[in-house]
Amino acid sequence: MISVEEALSKVLSFVHVLDHEEKPILECLGQALAEDIRAPFDVPPLDNSAMDGYAVRADSIAGATHESPKNLRVIGEVAAGQVSKLKVDPGTAVRIMTGALLPEGADTVVPFEDTDELRRKANLLYAGEIGIFASLPAGSNVRRRGEDIAKGKVIISQGTLLRPAHIGVLASLGKKTALVIRQPVVGILATGDELIGPDSPLSPGKIYNSNSYSLAAQVMECGGIPRLLGIASDDVGQLSAAISSGLECDLLITSGGVSVGDYDVVKQVLAAAGEVSFWTVRMKPGKPLAFGILRGRNGRKVPHLGLPGNPVSSMITFEVFARPAILKMMGAHELERPRIVAVMEDGVINKDSRRIFARVILSRRDSKYFARLTGPQGSGILTSMASANGIAIVPETVSELKSGDRVEVMVLNWDNI
Ligand code: AMP
Ligand code: MG
Repeated sequence: MISVEEALSKVLSFVHVLDHEEKPILECLGQALAEDIRAPFDVPPLDNSAMDGYAVRADSIAGATHESPKNLRVIGEVAAGQVSKLKVDPGTAVRIMTGALLPEGADTVVPFEDTDELRRKANLLYAGEIGIFASLPAGSNVRRRGEDIAKGKVIISQGTLLRPAHIGVLASLGKKTALVIRQPVVGILATGDELIGPDSPLSPGKIYNSNSYSLAAQVMECGGIPRLLGIASDDVGQLSAAISSGLECDLLITSGGVSVGDYDVVKQVLAAAGEVSFWTVRMKPGKPLAFGILRGRNGRKVPHLGLPGNPVSSMITFEVFARPAILKMMGAHELERPRIVAVMEDGVINKDSRRIFARVILSRRDSKYFARLTGPQGSGILTSMASANGIAIVPETVSELKSGDRVEVMVLNWDNI
């Protein structure tokens, strides 16, 4: 038996960062940037107002208070998008809107709340003047040129997984496209004589193929593009043909047929298709695992992961091995799920010193995380995975985890935590 770490490091040593592509920025969400993005200009490009108010010189309003306001002469108004030719001299002010360029001479914006504008309007007082109630330091309520992004600075570095704010930053620089690492195409093949697709009626001895769909959805969740290759029966000819159809992919994932006592032909066919090793990994669920490099056309090497057939095992082994491999191909730096420490609310017995990946429901009370089992943990009980938002990791060295013990949990999603 090999450890989870040993298996993972072998898998990762065989997959590489893919080449890059140029795409419209809105199609880049979730992909890793393949270039450093530098600012071609200052953002904002010029000093502008952060508030609706009056643009003034700070020295004109020194000492102003509610009781003894400073009255300034209003020489005009400037809205966002306008370039004003007005010049603010001592004793004068320009009415200004948020985002409007600061007129020459002004260094400070006094928000409406600190002026007597409302009272003047209500009493129809002389509009050519404004009373200022506050003495503000120079620069108040002014967005300085370049304060967000200085020209030439690296704003988003190579390898960053693009999130909505990054897409917004790219747009703020006037960019239409970006260079990103290509999304891996992941072939998914289910194996087993007992499997049928959704178009067939259920008949005795048959079950619906669920693995292809849960695995494809997991591929999409981490940013890859799944290619469903259908179901191959446990027959050498059919299986070989199905595997060949996956050799154009960047990674091929099969499910089923890799157990130790398996008489399935999967192992035989895989062994003939390339260099494949069959591992027993010290984990539960998911002990049997195959990994190798298949021979594609024109000397192309296609990494292959053979996951166990049990629906929970295939999803857990995807989490532990396939997800990091796909993320590495996508150029991501962080390959692991976030982990937290939680208080276990159920006991778990670990009778054969394997690392147990227990499906749990995480919750938070009094700033502490708690984890309770989703229910029966059999590797065929797919609903145990559906109700889980975390996977508690019971180390191989711990023979029993008692209720109240602390445990490390991989967070699958933060819903309801
Ligand atoms: P295997 O690893 O092929 O021995 O399969 C182990 C168990 O998982 C068996 O009960 C299979 O019927 C089940 N199984 C295998 N492949 C799938 C699949 N694609 N969808 C649902 N169950 C599966
Ligand atoms: Mg099978």
